Amino acid sequence: MFTLITLPYELTALQPVISEQTLSFHYGKHLQTYVDNLNKLIAGTEYEPMPLEEIVCKSSGAIFNNTGQVLNHNLYFTQFNKLEQGAKNKEQGLFIIQAINRDFGSFDNFKQEFEQKGTTLFGSGWVWLSADKDGKLVITQEQNAQNPITKGLRPLLTMDVWEHAYYLDYQNRRAAHLQALWSIINWEEIERRYMAVNDKC
Ligand code: MN
Repeated sequence: MFTLITLPYELTALQPVISEQTLSFHYGKHLQTYVDNLNKLIAGTEYEPMPLEEIVCKSSGAIFNNTGQVLNHNLYFTQFNKLEQGAKNKEQGLFIIQAINRDFGSFDNFKQEFEQKGTTLFGSGWVWLSADKDGKLVITQEQNAQNPITKGLRPLLTMDVWEHAYYLDYQNRRAAHLQALWSIINWEEIERRYMAVNDKC
């Protein structure tokens, strides 16, 4: 039985980048619905005792879609902190920032490629920063409920480009929304994910 994650901040904490209204619907309605659907779908099946990552690796169809969306949103919502702390963390000499500079040439190059891949992803999905088995960083576009673990990658940071993530605040301006998200990224959490050993398919 999966439960809705607890947010590590208040519903108003990410304003004006993400409004309280968007966060209330996105977290309280969209994610709650994915959690409820997932629990109904896996009840009494072989998937019931598995962690989210394992279900994503082994399932397909509606079970995959709902599990993928729960896993993706859990990683998404726990990667933010209050406005301005994102920029501050970037200056703290974190290893993940050094790795970004190493693999993309500069932090600005990384942001540019990430935003470009998020803006050009056709339809609904997610843009991800992940690490491969050697720790090299890559940016991938994933459609709908996909997660990079199915490609053998370790997911670190993501931006949700489903319209429900930004339409109330930014309407059709997806690029402006993605650009604004950098100021609320909790780089210490991204660093923790980079250093952790976690599940891959
Ligand atoms: Mn979403």
